[in-house]
Amino acid sequence: MSTAPTIAIVGAGLGGLTLARVLRTHGIASTVYERDASPTARDQGGTLDLDEESGQRALSAAGLLEEFRELSRPEGGELRLLGKDASTVLHSPAPEGGGDRPEIDRSALRGLLLDSLPRGTVRWGRAVRAVAAPPAGRPTLTLSDGGTVEADLVVGADGAWSRVRPLLSDAVPVYSGVTMSDGRLEDVDTRHRALAELVGHGSMFALGDERAVVAQRNGGGRIRVYGAVKVPEGWADAEGAAPEAVTKRLLDLFPDWDDALRALITDTDDPLVLRPVHALPVGHRWDRVPGVTLLGDAAHLMSPFAGAGANLAMLDGAELAGAIAAHDDLEAALTRYETALFPRAETAAALSAANLIGFLSPDGLRIARDLFASHTSNSGDDTR
Ligand SMILES: Cc1cc2nc3c(=O)[nH]c(=O)nc-3n(C[C@H](O)[C@H](O)[C@H](O)COP(=O)(O)OP(=O)(O)OC[C@H]3O[C@@H](n4cnc5c(N)ncnc54)[C@H](O)[C@@H]3O)c2cc1C
Repeated sequence: MSTAPTIAIVGAGLGGLTLARVLRTHGIASTVYERDASPTARDQGGTLDLDEESGQRALSAAGLLEEFRELSRPEGGELRLLGKDASTVLHSPAPEGGGDRPEIDRSALRGLLLDSLPRGTVRWGRAVRAVAAPPAGRPTLTLSDGGTVEADLVVGADGAWSRVRPLLSDAVPVYSGVTMSDGRLEDVDTRHRALAELVGHGSMFALGDERAVVAQRNGGGRIRVYGAVKVPEGWADAEGAAPEAVTKRLLDLFPDWDDALRALITDTDDPLVLRPVHALPVGHRWDRVPGVTLLGDAAHLMSPFAGAGANLAMLDGAELAGAIAAHDDLEAALTRYETALFPRAETAAALSAANLIGFLSPDGLRIARDLFASHTSNSGDDTR
């Protein structure tokens, strides 16, 4: 691009930061407006496995693949699938060298991207309150402090409840019928040894009764535990009072499950956080609006059941940056980016929706076993 455009990115999640970083590798500056007050203002969540074709491709474009490999946890590729009685249905050891989807703690990945950006690129504590895109003229952000920012390009990388998306689309995330609980166990090799052994070094899925308990080993001696249950929307709010009441009501949904699996829910070191799972319609897309686009969850929020959201957000960021660098005309760049984005996101969103339904169906254990077995080369060793 001959004259660099002014680029305002809303949201310093993995997608927005990847965009800023890859733009930077092409010598294009951008500014990221982030609601959080600082990089450590909020827990960044658990572990992610980065796919060769998406997350890793984005890191390669960002020039950060080697650093990623150093931070990744190859042993995190171990996979266990259990029944509700904690019996092993499938056990796949971590592939040699971590395989093609190495695990990394989300906080480490975000730190890697942040450290690769010039100081001042991210404006912390600058929430975007509104965005306007006049038919003639440049899009404008209004920040929470009342200030305004005009830019040639505004990118909504602001996640599920994007403030930028309404400029492009009327779509809103819809509750999937599934609510997840999110809890942490700390210092597990000392304080929760039996649970650490049950979970292993990677991911453990226990499925049954149209419910799930998923536990993932993280770095720093932590385990992250997710419960998944089918409950009406608002169930979380109704239970919102005391954390103990929420844990008890959740546990009541796993009455005859093995004690160790129940302990994964009750023994967390912090109160459980409930996360209703929402998704945008599969195939969400929009008509071109000059100077505005979306990436990541803002564009294609989907359930976590395909392990694709963060990977795609990063790939979106890398591809958008590449398109901007390759075109003199910004609109041509956005058209190229969105033309590839829409079908890619649709495929992943459809898979994620199908997995959510399948894993939490009466036949969920068999469906998960067949899917995992097809993904793991040596699963036959220990599959029944
Ligand atoms: C339990 C769970 C497990 C998951 N596991 C996986 C997995 O294994 N693999 C995978 O690929 N994906 C996974 N995902 C999905 C993944 O977390 C998301 O798809 C990914 O984080 C999306 O990245 P993003 O950059 O688009 O948005 P986000 O990570 O949501 O980042 C958006 C950023 O925008 C900021 N923001 C929001 N509003 C504003 C505003 N108005 N002004 C300024 N800033 C704003 C937010 O503070 C945030 O920093 C999981 C999700 C969940 C809930």
